[in-house]
Amino acid sequence: MTGLRLEVDLGVLAANIAAVRARVAPAEMMLIVKDDAYGHGLEAVVSRASAEGVRWFGAFDVHDALVTRGVVGEGARIFSWLTVGREEIAAALDAHVDLGVGDAGFLEDIASVARTVGAVARVHLKIDTGLHRNGIRPEQWPSVLERSVELQAEGAIRVVGVWSHIAEASDETDDEARAVFEEAVSAAERAGFAIEVRHLAASAASFARAQFRYDLVRVGAFCYGVRSAHGESETALGVRPVGSLIAPVTRVDDARAVIGVGSLHGLPSSLARRASLRHATDALPIDRIDEAHSTVTAWAGSAAGEEIVVFGAGGRSATDLAEAIGTVGEEILVRVSPLIPRTYLGG
Ligand SMILES: *Cc1c(COP(=O)(O)O)cnc(C)c1O
Repeated sequence: MTGLRLEVDLGVLAANIAAVRARVAPAEMMLIVKDDAYGHGLEAVVSRASAEGVRWFGAFDVHDALVTRGVVGEGARIFSWLTVGREEIAAALDAHVDLGVGDAGFLEDIASVARTVGAVARVHLKIDTGLHRNGIRPEQWPSVLERSVELQAEGAIRVVGVWSHIAEASDETDDEARAVFEEAVSAAERAGFAIEVRHLAASAASFARAQFRYDLVRVGAFCYGVRSAHGESETALGVRPVGSLIAPVTRVDDARAVIGVGSLHGLPSSLARRASLRHATDALPIDRIDEAHSTVTAWAGSAAGEEIVVFGAGGRSATDLAEAIGTVGEEILVRVSPLIPRTYLGG
């Protein structure tokens, strides 16, 4: 295929998954597939990951959880953590989706739907360890546990997990969060719950800090070959970019190459005059980004019909571009317009 496209190498995805699993073992890995699997295409990613033996998927919203269930069948666990209404709770329970619970009201809603449909909801209680982004506050934790004991005794829920999300910004705040987390797990165990999975870390902490891994780590970025901004290189992490945005050269004049990708395709226009692309060893500063085209310094031999890697294999990484405008590589990926075709290699 030619023309503007996001090439997604499923073989690289498989290799990255293997690298992450080896790194975090004996903890298990949940593959995070939110935002259309970080722009790579939910179904293709889930299908390949499932074939590689991934047994936990993190799908954020119920819609994506149901799509994921459709792809993997009953052989995997699917975790969804967006607080939703009764209809979606019912659909999630019907599809045996594990639910992340960050507030007492949502717990009641889940129990009430579970009673109605005659299901036992598997819940993972979320302790707020300081991020203040949904989560049960430590001072409310004892009462939520008490209520969970009642709901579990009644047969509406089963508490199978305790989890949280951390900033991964500094070791100190992460360590403070970890202390809060461990206290919450202990309290849940004292309340009588057999906690099957404790999960706290995403990509960065799961790699850097063994004591954050517990039973399960929730990894998105590194599985897609996206390193952290200002973090270790992809090579050091042992991963490679899964997605490559490839654009055609539409015209070359005045030592400038015009390429067929612009802000409407999802390329942030703020990259102009801040970032460069790469062709072989040449750095090609980006002059301007218009709606449907961008202009970069031409490289030796560039001509209309050639192609350039905007980010990905053989070019700059998504994180390289992101760093030039103060954001993260994931954002560069999820901004790629859904109208741009995804083409799959290594299937
Ligand atoms: C996105 C997300 C992750 C994965 O983060 P990465 O840094 O991409 O690995 C894990 N947990 C939660 C709750 C998330 O929202």
